[in-house]
Amino acid sequence: MPEIQSDTSTTTKKLPSHAKVVIIGGGVVGCSILYHLAKFGWKDAVLLERDELTSGSSWHAAGQIHTISSDPNISRLQSYTIDLYKEIEELSGHSVGLHITGGFYLASNKTWYDYLKRERSKARYMGLNQEFISPKEVAERHPLIDPSHYHAALWDDQDGDLDPSGATYAFAKAAKVHGAQYFTHTPATATKQRPDGSWDVTTPKGVINAEHIVNCGGLWAREVGHMQGLNLPVQPMEHHYLITEKIDAVANHPTRLPAGIDYEANIYFRQERQGMLLGTYEPKGTPWKVGGTPWDFGHELLQPDLDRIADRLEMSFERIPAIGEAGIKDMINGPFTFGPDGNPMIGPVPGMKNYWCAVGVMAGFCQGGGVGLTMAEWMIDGEPSIDVWAMDVARFGDFATPDWGTVKSTENYERRFVMTFPNETLPKGRMQKTTALHDRLVAKGARMGQSFGLENALWFADGPEDAHEDPTFERNRSHDYVAREVKAVREAVGGIEIANFAKHEFKGAGARAYLNRTLAGYVPKPGRLTLTPMLTPKGKLYGDLTVASLSEEHFILFGSGTMQEAHRRWFEKDLPSDVTYANVSDDWHGIALSGPKSRDLLAKLTRDDVSAEAFKFRDLRQTYVGGVPVILNRISFSGELGYEIYCKPQYLLRLAEAVEEAGADLGYRWYGARALMSMRLEKGWGVWALDFRPDFNAVESGMDVFINWKKDFVGKDATLAARDTGPKQKLVTMTIDVDGIDVSNDEAILQDGAAVGYISSGGYAHHVGKSMAMGYVTSPNAEPGTQLQVEILGELYDAEVLGAPIYDANGANMRA
Ligand SMILES: Cc1cc2nc3c(=O)[nH]c(=O)nc-3n(C[C@H](O)[C@H](O)[C@H](O)COP(=O)(O)OP(=O)(O)OC[C@H]3O[C@@H](n4cnc5c(N)ncnc54)[C@H](O)[C@@H]3O)c2cc1C
Repeated sequence: MPEIQSDTSTTTKKLPSHAKVVIIGGGVVGCSILYHLAKFGWKDAVLLERDELTSGSSWHAAGQIHTISSDPNISRLQSYTIDLYKEIEELSGHSVGLHITGGFYLASNKTWYDYLKRERSKARYMGLNQEFISPKEVAERHPLIDPSHYHAALWDDQDGDLDPSGATYAFAKAAKVHGAQYFTHTPATATKQRPDGSWDVTTPKGVINAEHIVNCGGLWAREVGHMQGLNLPVQPMEHHYLITEKIDAVANHPTRLPAGIDYEANIYFRQERQGMLLGTYEPKGTPWKVGGTPWDFGHELLQPDLDRIADRLEMSFERIPAIGEAGIKDMINGPFTFGPDGNPMIGPVPGMKNYWCAVGVMAGFCQGGGVGLTMAEWMIDGEPSIDVWAMDVARFGDFATPDWGTVKSTENYERRFVMTFPNETLPKGRMQKTTALHDRLVAKGARMGQSFGLENALWFADGPEDAHEDPTFERNRSHDYVAREVKAVREAVGGIEIANFAKHEFKGAGARAYLNRTLAGYVPKPGRLTLTPMLTPKGKLYGDLTVASLSEEHFILFGSGTMQEAHRRWFEKDLPSDVTYANVSDDWHGIALSGPKSRDLLAKLTRDDVSAEAFKFRDLRQTYVGGVPVILNRISFSGELGYEIYCKPQYLLRLAEAVEEAGADLGYRWYGARALMSMRLEKGWGVWALDFRPDFNAVESGMDVFINWKKDFVGKDATLAARDTGPKQKLVTMTIDVDGIDVSNDEAILQDGAAVGYISSGGYAHHVGKSMAMGYVTSPNAEPGTQLQVEILGELYDAEVLGAPIYDANGANMRA
């Protein structure tokens, strides 16, 4: 049975009146952040805990630790977390009860085996120590397991377990060694911002003023957020694990047994003293306290409900019979907090100054160290050292309401050990945001996906009944339909909805100067468009944006839809007083027309002269198309002649009707995101979050070609240094000699058996009829013509690095 420890030395201490940073919440996450801040130099850091440390979910965790995560950078941070435990134990003198036993991920069918092959491939370039072992070896390492249920297992040296309370205390005490302070029995009851941006945090022991505050409220993250009008879409979920009585085979085993996860049975297990611990994520999750966590919830556990997990237990007793035969000593049902996609929500909260959060950390003992490291880097250095987009609180916008959060967090709980395939769209929380075209496109056969809460068409079937596909790693039934869309665009004209692009509006006398400083590329003159990277002070990519100058003092930037809140946070940070900024993404919907006949189509829809001479590549106009007011950009992401037509949402339906009508005799066809992704591959154009991300700089990604070196811009010094040193790795486009399956992303790229890079994106390039990919490889391997290999589901396929776009290399079609 988990126990709660206490530390009376911190209960009566006098609270300081000021600190650089106040952390609210003394669970494993808050304590890890305190530790990292103090270690990296912010010693004037104070943590407030309403009760004893670990008084939320931390005290009753199962304490299992492992490295695998769907996101490679989270895996890296999980590996860092596990390595950190020895350090904090030594520094604090407080035992973390660490057992590094190694652990296995068990595949009981071919699909799970395939999934693990993908994980193994990631581990190759991440440098993680993972290897496949046979079912026979599984049984040798863990005699309680019946190997007949398994195909194979992925073994990871780093996995194991620890004492959750001990680990939390070790973080807190190690933080103290570095000079930080924590106060137990000191609840934060109110947070109020002063005009200078600092925060007053009220407690029964007085008010403490801090430059920054961090919400690490765990089970109470929502309530701490409410103090500031912040509605976090996180949800505590009930969760069970059991501990058996003594099992002789465990007690007599010469070494501690390895930890394990069986995906199909949806269980995790490990040795606990002389018995076993087994936990499961049941298929129907139970959200806990949807209306809010009571402040008086103490060190309580919830009533176990065996019926809920009975079928999981049955399956696990077949696979590990000794657990079924042993008596159950303890059954734990405890709540812990999930976020909508299962990953933590951390970082500076968009729209708030000096307010940070680290909430929804559902695997605090696997991830707490990495979250602490990242938060400390972000707060002290201004940016994390690796791309933590998968954990960034800004990946959710106002669509992520508390209700939506409960639905998605529950879905995520239920899918904790359920595989998500590359072509899979998750069913819950859908239709949160739609455009006026939604029903129209669905009626035409659109298979919809969702991005940043907004529904968008992935591909078009022959009708609504035909718009389905099975989740798979291989090419799926959308393949031929996507080919049809690509053909329409390459040979005639197609249209795609572009509501899901972000739009950022800047106005004012200082707007041009501000953008010139903030963006690394050229800021266009009125009536023109440019493409530019945006860099961090350390020279990392932080955006690739199209800049539209509507007038000398009026600009709209078009960029990644999912990054819109992160970019808003970025822009609002240092906005001068003579510039106004607004995220206007929801104010502009639209349609992009692409294809050799797109000009003919446009000409039928506008009274303007849109001839090649009058309306050139990268021109823009505020005009009328299809009888509605629009911003018309001559630009395209398909690599064809094309136009982006942006209108207010209330005009979108009219515009679409006009386009369809005028396009009927030109071979017009709607196309979806998959066709667009296929066409941009043929041009070797990267996309944000996959090929372009803050793990890379402008030189590595090739975005340096858009830089205006003659001006000063954020990140210039770092980029000049990177240019002078030369990149260690480079983004390349490749063709792959493979049939029936394509890369998705994160596969290893190899040279002579050694990993030299990884795939950032890829798929089938329908027009050229080849499987293609983009990825980062060490610079010597980036030379055109280099022969490499790419690992897809455990098989190696030959790949060749391209020197120029495989389609329309000099861009003649686009500029036509
Ligand atoms: C049954 C179970 C099994 C689990 N097994 C594992 C596992 O094997 N491995 C793993 O990695 N994770 C596991 N977890 C998850 C893990 O427990 C959580 O991820 C982790 O505890 C989250 O830590 P936290 O610091 O974010 O939140 P919490 O532990 O909830 O801490 C929040 C703290 O904030 C304090 N607080 C809240 N409001 C205020 C306020 N206003 N003022 C001051 N203090 C405040 C609370 O008292 C609390 O101490 C398990 C969880 C459960 C329930």
